[in-house]
Amino acid sequence: MEQKLTGMNIIIQVIVAVLIFLLMSRPALAEFTIEDENKVGREFYEEMVKSHALVEDPRIVNYVRAVGQRITSQLPITLFDFHFSVIRSSAVNAFATPGGYIYVNSGLISLVEKESQLAGVMSHETGHIQSRHIAQMISKSQKVSIGSLAAILAGAFLGGGSNLTAGIAGFSMATATSLSLKYSRENEEEADRKGMGFLVKAGYDPQAMVDFMKIMKRYEYFSNTIPSYFLTHPGTEDRIAYLDSLRITTYPSPGKDSIVGHLKRIQTLIQLDDKDQERALKHFQNDLRKNPSDVDDLYGLAVTLNRLGRNTEAMETFQKVLSIAPDDMDVIRDLGICYYQLGQADKAIIPLKEVVAAYPNDVEAALYLGKVYNATGNYSDAIKLFNTLKPPISDDADVHYNLAVAYGKTDQAGWSHYHFAMYFKKKRRFDAALFHLKAAQLSFSEYSPMAEKIETEIQSMGAKDKSLQRKPRDSVLHMKSSE
Ligand SMILES: [Zn+2]
Repeated sequence: MEQKLTGMNIIIQVIVAVLIFLLMSRPALAEFTIEDENKVGREFYEEMVKSHALVEDPRIVNYVRAVGQRITSQLPITLFDFHFSVIRSSAVNAFATPGGYIYVNSGLISLVEKESQLAGVMSHETGHIQSRHIAQMISKSQKVSIGSLAAILAGAFLGGGSNLTAGIAGFSMATATSLSLKYSRENEEEADRKGMGFLVKAGYDPQAMVDFMKIMKRYEYFSNTIPSYFLTHPGTEDRIAYLDSLRITTYPSPGKDSIVGHLKRIQTLIQLDDKDQERALKHFQNDLRKNPSDVDDLYGLAVTLNRLGRNTEAMETFQKVLSIAPDDMDVIRDLGICYYQLGQADKAIIPLKEVVAAYPNDVEAALYLGKVYNATGNYSDAIKLFNTLKPPISDDADVHYNLAVAYGKTDQAGWSHYHFAMYFKKKRRFDAALFHLKAAQLSFSEYSPMAEKIETEIQSMGAKDKSLQRKPRDSVLHMKSSE
């Protein structure tokens, strides 16, 4: 917990720095326009990406996106392109920034009991965005200095003066609070009113919004802490009463609990995204005590056992879950990866091929299949597969290394040298990279596009190499011995 908060603090500090920069470069703050919203929203998002604050597993991201799009596609009119992201944080929170960006913490996804409850939270955030609440706050607060406005914004986005924002150097969250530029009760009611309308239009049960607030109250009681969500969205008791009144009077008919489906699998994947394997192990073992043949928990247990190096148990668990759910692609995928990691590449071919054929966007599965091809001597298929990958994964050090090996084994020295060069460039060993680029240059005809590409790389690498010349130059020898 401690560590998580510290990590979050670093992220927040970076974000605050970006906001200061953005707002300092703006001469006047008379009106916070849609353009301003998009700009701040985008930069904030890019900072979240750069700080590795976001969950990257495409299965989790696609799920949240699907729920979000279900809601926003019902909007009669909108000024924004919506973006949905998952923040890797156990703090139970969700928020929207200007410009149509909705963030949900993984901790909140783990806590909800139904997809409709997650949809309710996202509908509420959509309500804030559609009403431009943050833009209104900024436009109204013309007396606020640029510096404190940055603090206010960070406070509004990331949970106010809670423990999350504590320790940010140079900012007084107290200033932000005393200016009372948090969401007002009216803001919350408007977001709830609009949100429930969006939720119902999307086909979900409006009761879910009331239920989520009750889950949060329970969570608050048992954890003895105020959840971040209540800090970003104040007025809890008022909100429960207001939501309940809306549901009874305006939306009396029930809707669906689940539309996209498989929330439990997404919650399993979130648990697997947690780096603490022992905690994940306990979680799955506990759940399995209640229901020993639960496919999601068995799958989670198998992957966790594999990661903990308990290979025999992992394999047994994979076989058990496959006997219950033989067509489960997540299980097939991770079984394939497990085989490869156990040095049984030949057994990994069929499962991984099946997954890559079904999900061409699963880059991790593709990367493993490529490695499996290399490990089983099928270099031409490895080359073919790696060359279908698109940036940024195609520029991954691992991909370059495996391509370099595959090309080397098939006597394509020029391409092998080129990818070794790109591999060493990624590893910031520029002299080793330069050596391979010069070797690669000999294999391509003088005016070919590849020769030009290599020449450009040599030019930029030469500059980088010079700046590193004070360092000992043993990398080439070192590299040769490892080739
Ligand atoms: Zn709110």
